[in-house]
Amino acid sequence: MHFRLIPAIVLATFLHSCQSFQKTTNDLTTVVNKVPAKLGKKGTLNFFVIGDWGRNGSHHQKEVAEQMNEIGKMIHPNFIISTGDNFYPNGVGSVYDKQWLSSFENIYTGKHLQCKWYAVLGNHDYRGTPQAELDYSKKSLRWTMPDRYYTLTQKIDDSTSVRFIFLDSNPLVIKNHNYYSDMALQDTVQQLKWLDSVLVHAKEKWKIVIAHHPVYSSNPRHGNSARLITLLRPKLEKYGVQLYLSGHDHDLQHQKPAGTVDYVISGAGSQTRRTTEHLTTKFTRDVSGFAAISLTSDSLKLYFIDYTGTPIYSFSKGK
Ligand SMILES: [Zn+2]
Repeated sequence: MHFRLIPAIVLATFLHSCQSFQKTTNDLTTVVNKVPAKLGKKGTLNFFVIGDWGRNGSHHQKEVAEQMNEIGKMIHPNFIISTGDNFYPNGVGSVYDKQWLSSFENIYTGKHLQCKWYAVLGNHDYRGTPQAELDYSKKSLRWTMPDRYYTLTQKIDDSTSVRFIFLDSNPLVIKNHNYYSDMALQDTVQQLKWLDSVLVHAKEKWKIVIAHHPVYSSNPRHGNSARLITLLRPKLEKYGVQLYLSGHDHDLQHQKPAGTVDYVISGAGSQTRRTTEHLTTKFTRDVSGFAAISLTSDSLKLYFIDYTGTPIYSFSKGK
């Protein structure tokens, strides 16, 4: 695993461009051309988060992919996280399913997207053969789904790391298993025990949990998940998780209920759905796009970028 480093000046330029471009509708091409991409400073981990995307390039999937690569030229993502519903409408049938090419390999072709993709399963993935998405990890250098739930750490600098915990939220929230392959076989008690055991031993300064289903969402299609508020929220708060990333709702959201956890939805990798606001909503927009996150030892910065390459929102939190 390699760690690319990005300079403060690049981030500063990026942040500056964020602020400027909120007032205009230009894309970032001119800014990209001005960025001295080879300048480097140790101590920053950058990654993209995208969800709900696999539609053979349609519904702006291809445009989002192109803009991920454009932003990638500036911030050099170390890896990419996929929040699930990777293939519509019915997942993939095998590691030879044609959607591996038409919705993944032939779409995310940019040079800066050839890093590891850490993925979780969504409900649409369960309509196919979920095991095929695990098995494809053995065929692909970048697709990475070692299990239905798993954890890994990444170094930010010599003394700081971040722990990522990838969950399978599907069996936690879906009660009617009829349409969902082997979901009934998944042991949710075991998964929640595992989550506790990982969190209780996690000594990393930053902790980020990823799953397909949102805990909090203001999209009227699904809304808040009473089940995940009961099952997950107390654990996230108790163990000091700073950020919960999900997809499922087809938009870009930042929800901040009381407590220490920020809830982000990046589920706009292709098609979108009309969204609304709740009292907990800091930002919501039903536009195709993705999130770019930059972590240092003492700060987390998140940007939402739409399919035209325009940064439409950013927030930061300290540690
Ligand atoms: Zn979903």
